[in-house]
Amino acid sequence: MADLLRQGSTLTDLACPACASPLFRLKNGDLWCEKDQKKVIVVKEGEEPRIARSAAMDSLEATIMAKVQEIQSKMQSEQNPEELDKLGKTLSGLLENLDRTRKIKKT
Ligand SMILES: [Zn+2]
Repeated sequence: MADLLRQGSTLTDLACPACASPLFRLKNGDLWCEKDQKKVIVVKEGEEPRIARSAAMDSLEATIMAKVQEIQSKMQSEQNPEELDKLGKTLSGLLENLDRTRKIKKT
């Protein structure tokens, strides 16, 4: 808790929907439950906060995006058509997963 405050986070008067601990407002504006180690989101101003359901999907999306960039930079330097074909297939698989992840996030 002291660490969070030192990092510039502020204590809010909102309570965590899961454990009722006071929530912190992180420097980037996110609400954070220190006890659950989870991001909490407020859907609408004045509404009860809830645990961010998409936290796992956010990190999955970030992982896939990082891989996509990796493959992309490999493709740029790859000359072998067979390797390019493999990279292309990997890339399209990743993009499919990315698409699926984003769809799940919206539900
Ligand atoms: Zn909590």
